[in-house]
This record gives sequence, C-alpha cells and structure tokens, in this order.
Amino acid sequence: MRTGVFRNKDSFIRDFKKRLKQTYLKDINDSTIRERYNILGTLVREEISKDWIKTNKILEKNDQRKVYYFSMEFLMGRLITNNLMNMGIRRVVEEAFNDLGFDLNETEHYESDPGLGNGGLGRLAACYLDSLASLGLPGYGNCIRYRYGLFRQRIKQGYQEERPDNWLSDGYVWEVRKEEEAVDIPFFGNIEWHDGFVYKPSEYIRAVPYDVPIVGDSNNVVNALRLWNAEPSKRYPEGKSAFEYESELQKISGILYPDDTTYEGKQLRLKQQYFFSAAGVKSIVNKHLKKYGTLDNLADYVVFHINDTHPTLIIPELMRILLDEQHMEWDKAWDITQKVTAYTNHTILAEALEKWPIDIMKPLLPRIYQLIEEINRRFCLELLEKVGYQNSDLINELAIIGNGVVRMAHLCIVSSYSVNGVAKLHTDILKNIEMKKFYDIYPEKFINVTNGITHRRWLLHTNTELTELLEKYIGSGFKKHPFELEKLLDFVDEKELKEAFLKVKKIKKEQLAQRIYKEQKIKIDTDSIFDIQVKRLHEYKRQLMNALHIMYVYHNLKTNPDFKANYVPHTFIFGAKAAAGYYFAKKVIKLINTIAKKVNNDSETNEYLKVIFVENYNVSYAEMIMPAADISEQISTASKEASGTGNMKFMMNGALTLGTLDGANVEIDELVGQDNIFIFGMNADEVTNLYKNGGYNPKEIYNNDEEIRMLLEQLVNGFFEDEKQDEFSDIFNNLVYNDNYFVLKDYHSYKEAHRLANEAYKNKNEWAKKALVNIAKSGIFASDRSINEYAENIWHIKPIK
Ligand SMILES: *Cc1c(COP(=O)(O)O)cnc(C)c1O
Repeated sequence: MRTGVFRNKDSFIRDFKKRLKQTYLKDINDSTIRERYNILGTLVREEISKDWIKTNKILEKNDQRKVYYFSMEFLMGRLITNNLMNMGIRRVVEEAFNDLGFDLNETEHYESDPGLGNGGLGRLAACYLDSLASLGLPGYGNCIRYRYGLFRQRIKQGYQEERPDNWLSDGYVWEVRKEEEAVDIPFFGNIEWHDGFVYKPSEYIRAVPYDVPIVGDSNNVVNALRLWNAEPSKRYPEGKSAFEYESELQKISGILYPDDTTYEGKQLRLKQQYFFSAAGVKSIVNKHLKKYGTLDNLADYVVFHINDTHPTLIIPELMRILLDEQHMEWDKAWDITQKVTAYTNHTILAEALEKWPIDIMKPLLPRIYQLIEEINRRFCLELLEKVGYQNSDLINELAIIGNGVVRMAHLCIVSSYSVNGVAKLHTDILKNIEMKKFYDIYPEKFINVTNGITHRRWLLHTNTELTELLEKYIGSGFKKHPFELEKLLDFVDEKELKEAFLKVKKIKKEQLAQRIYKEQKIKIDTDSIFDIQVKRLHEYKRQLMNALHIMYVYHNLKTNPDFKANYVPHTFIFGAKAAAGYYFAKKVIKLINTIAKKVNNDSETNEYLKVIFVENYNVSYAEMIMPAADISEQISTASKEASGTGNMKFMMNGALTLGTLDGANVEIDELVGQDNIFIFGMNADEVTNLYKNGGYNPKEIYNNDEEIRMLLEQLVNGFFEDEKQDEFSDIFNNLVYNDNYFVLKDYHSYKEAHRLANEAYKNKNEWAKKALVNIAKSGIFASDRSINEYAENIWHIKPIK
C-alpha cells in the first residue's frame, strides 16, 4: 500500500491541484495538457524517489555484485505508463483523472519518446533494464544523454525527410542531475616517461551524469539508467578558443550516430564512445574505491557488460586506471579486467563490425591506443606459442590490430570472460563460421542468450484487452511468470475463446486504423488482413521483396479474376526509418510510398489492397502496431538477422510469423510447429554456401522468369506515371545485377507463403487457434527469461535482499 499522494483518489486530487497551482499559478480547469503531464510526472517521480533511496541504501549496506550494462543506445519509449503500472498506482491516478474530467491516456501520450536509440539493439537494452529491475536484480544502464535523439521522420512526396528530434526541449521529468558525481574525461595530448608511462592529456571534457529511475514491477526496487552529458571542464584547454572548445564538446552529447563519412565525423564518434565508456568506468570505480578502498576485489562485485562493440574502450580504460592510477602489475590488472568484462555480439554483417583506423584513435586517445597495442602484443605472443610460426597467417587474422585498424570485436573477445550471441542460430554461426577461429581458442567463453522483450510493456501495458481475456482463462500468474502463458494451450480449441480473441484483435486493429486515419487521412478496412513489416530499413531485411510482392498482387487483382475472387483483402503496413546517408534504403521508402499512392487510389482494386507507410516509426507507434497485426513479416535473408525482437512482440500479441529461418524465427518455428507459422526461402546454410560459391546470377532469373521480369520492368518503364522514369533504376539495376540479399532467388517461395496465409485466413476460427498457440508459446521470449540466463550464466548476480 502506498502512503502520501497516491494513497487514494482523494489525496491524489488534492495534492495534484495544489501542486499545479503552486507551479503554474493556475486552477486545474485552466491548465494545459503539458502542465498536467508535468505535474503528474513530477509527483510520480517523487514517489519513485522513496523506493529509489531505499534501494540504494540497501545496496550500500550489502556486499553485492552488480552489473553495469554499457550501450550506445537505449530506446526507452515513454516511461509514464510503465512507471504508473510498475508502481501499482495507475488505477488511482486514472480514477482521479476521470473525476477531474481529464483523459489519463491522452496525458500519458503527451510524453515524447526519448530518442536514445535507433532500433532493435537499443530497444533490447531498454527491455533488459525493465527486466533487471522487475526481477529485483542490481543492474544499471550507461549511455549518453544525447541532446537530439535519432531524427524524426517525415514523408514528403514519398521521400524520407529527417527533422531534428528535440526531445529535451521541455525538460525531462524523469531525470535527476548528479552534479557531485561528475568526472573529467581526458583527450589528446601525449605520453611521457617518468619511471613509467605518464599520460598528459591536452584537453578534458566534464561528464555530468543524469540518472533516470528504472522502476521494477511491484517490488519496490528502483535501478537507474545513467546518461552522461558533456560539459566544459574547469581544466580549460590551452590554445583553444572558448567558442571552439564549447562547440566541440557540445557535439559529444549532441546526436546519436553523427555522420561518419569525414575524418571529423569519425573522430567524433570515437570521442562519444570513449566519453561514456570512460565516464561510466570512472564513476563505478570511484564508488567501489569509496566502499572498499581497493580495486583488488573489483571482480567480486562488478561486471561491465559490453552491448555490441561501441563501449569496447572500457577495456583499455580499466587497464589504464589499474596500471597508471592504482599502480598494479600488468598481469594482475589484466586478470581483473578479464574477469569484469562480458561482451554481446549483435551482428555478423561485415560492414557493421567496428574497425577504428589507428590514425584516428592514436592522436585522440594516445594512452588507450598504447594499451591496446600492448594487449595485442601479448595476445599475439600467446597465440604464437600455441600455434607456432608456421601459422602466422592465423595470428595476423586474429590480431587485434592489423591493416591500420583496431578490430573492436577482437579486442572484446580476447579481453572478456564471456562472449554471447543473441539467438541459437546466430551463436552457432559465430562459433562455426564467423568467429570460429576464436571459438577454437576460447571455446569456454562462447554462450548463447536468445533475446527477449519485456512482456510488461509489450503485452500487459499495450494490450490490456488481450491481457484481460487471457486472465479469464489462465488466471493472472503469467503476469509474473510469462511461461504460464502455456496454460492457454488447454483452451485453444474453445470456440468462445477464439471468438473473443478475434474480437480483441479487431478492437486493436480499429485503434490502429483510427491513428492512421488521423495522421494520414487514409481509411483502412479492419476486416482486411493486417500484414505488417515494421523495423529499420535495411537491404538485408528485404522490405524490397515485400514491395515487389505487393506489385505482383496489384497486377493480379487488375488482370486475373480468379486471383481476385480468391484474395482476402489485405492492408500492408510498413514503418521504417532509413539511416540519413543510406541512399538505397531511402529509395526503397520512396518505392513503397509510390506503390501506396498508386494502389490506394485505384478504385478497381482498393477494396482488396491498401498500402500504408506509417511516418516516424518508434516505440510508441510500435505499441499500437504490434497488437493489431495478423501477419508479422520477418523476411530477412537467412543468416543476416542476428535475432530480431519485433518478431517476438508480434508473436506475443497473436500475429502469425511469415518469415525465413533466420534469427529467433528459427526458435519460434520450433516452438509453434509448421501449422502455426509460414516459413519460406533459403535457410542459413544454403545462403552461406551460395555466398561461398560466388553468389548467383540474378540476370538469369530476370531473363528466364516472365513474372519477375514484368515486375522489374514496371520499376523503369513508366508504370508509375507520376515518377521520373529513372526514379527506381538503381533498384532495378541492383536487383538484376547484384541482388546481394537474394530477393529474386526467394521471391517465388515468398509468394507461395503469402498464398498459404491468404488461404488459411479464410478459416478464421482456425486462424484464431493458430494465433493463440503463438501467444501460448511466446513466454520463452519474455526478457525476464533472457535476463535470468544472463544473471545465472554470465553475470552471477543475485536479487537485492
Ligand atoms: C522492437 C523494435 C525494433 C526492432 O525490430 P526488429 O524487427 O527486431 O528489427 C525496432 N524499432 C522499434 C521502435 C522497436 O520497438
């Protein structure tokens, strides 16, 4: 039971009115939504603070091991609903708002998404923080307080435009500035020798932490996400104008993933990486020293988790502190460093494996670079002893430094005690192909932890209708123990359940349709199949294949009466941001919008086929989209999507996956069985072999396959009469001459999967059963399961007592 403001409805109303008046000098009836939101947020944060202080007090007393999760991105989404729910005070507030004549929902929606991430990687980190707190585990996020998040996307004449995401313009009610815990981060300068190496930086940047509370679900535990802000240091750099210094440092916590096509841009990204890695390590080490007076036992109490390679520099930074500040011997420092760092690999895409040119790293971080050289030297020597001179090729291949660059993944694997992939297939590919040679040396380090999503946000909070329905059949145990969703299997043949499920689905489709109508003035049929692909736009995710298939459907609706007679009306929904500099991805967005414009306005077919591209896909939009889907498009080229998490959100909300055997789709397929999923296309082995044998010749398909040729020609023959004739010629050429991601190769199999889904949907009762089996089997993808695995097998942490 809560005391104080949130004790009951009346006490809340009284305090809410009073605080509003004190803050804005207004009666509640004259207040704006912004003011009401801010007061609500403030009151909730104050309530959180009570638990926050208590949690911290306990941890100060306990000798307890903690994990610090370092990630360049945390895609948090709104916190207000999450905090109200996890604190168990949403009902009180909702009743009070109803009494006052305000809509709580609308007030919650006033909060803007903090754009501290761009896609799956950042969303995963956010889900993990929620699970850590909700399982009562001591775990903290570490990131940058980006002044501007990832851009806001506008679609104009079918093209993506990027607008600044000014998410902090009106402040952020959840954050608390911790001035006292600020630290200085050194850059540039040189290294001198005085009985040992002494680093003399020429510049310092002050890192000031802002802590955002992470509220556990009904357990009074509050963890934190620490966001670092770059500010001027008191140690002012010599020979630099104030203006120059100020404008340079502002960029460090300026934007996420600044353009890195120039030297300056690359340097800035590396500055960002070192900035938040070093600030995090320093503040954690300071805290540890304050408590224990030594770092000898650091590994007993601390784990640094490296989420993808962006925070890799915590490794040499910790070495620097242990060697230069604590004056430890190398071996002892190395032993500690290896015992406190664990690494998650997220990708095998070659272009995404970070490699930093020496000529960027060395001048910016001279001491850090020197330490990486020494780590590399020792690693190579060790390897040499193991494999001998005759295998020098292997040494060159695995070296941390080579060809003028630092290979960050190699540094992580060599230095960490644990290396994990994010789905079974992905980890197998790491072990057997991508990182095989490292696996041969360090088999004990490699482990799989399949990704997960927080079922609280993605089911309990965003699909209250479905949650209530499930509760009626299986009780509320699944809210704490998502595996209990499996109990639903006993009921999947019950007619009432299936009908009730379809009703819920329809409600969620209507809610989404309303939002789409409000924003885009396009009416969609909520009896049509909602076939949805929402995720970052990338060639390997193959939105292009989806688009080509829609062109096929459109063509057949126009020309083939049998096809039309058999076709269940479809609404294809896309949502995707393309990286600002990713030319091809932006072309695909343009193509989808061009198709949408043509088919949506064709009265001959538009009762059967609508295409929607939602603007500015983000977490809040996802929360409306996932519950409304009938079909979840997970169609990446097999082996390319490490895991995916969108696939899990859809599944948990009762959508059927139409996808390749890639990432976690493989595990979904195993769980639900072939009757409850639509699998198509080449598998990972076939793709790997095809690459090994030099790819294939898409031109041959183009020449010999009439249907594909017809579709491809529509891209360039004026079929889209409103566009310049060469608008899509790059897409055409890419498909005909490269097709690196096997769009044409998988096309027919993809089309067949769609045909089967179309047929299956006609029996809605059977469809509902399939959807319910998916929900029943989705508990394993709750991030509580992932986090329990991390806690047990990698971090060795225990709940806060
Ligand atoms: C879950 C999520 C993602 C990741 O989607 P994938 O399909 O796994 O790539 C990306 N963006 C947002 C906003 C999400 O919620």
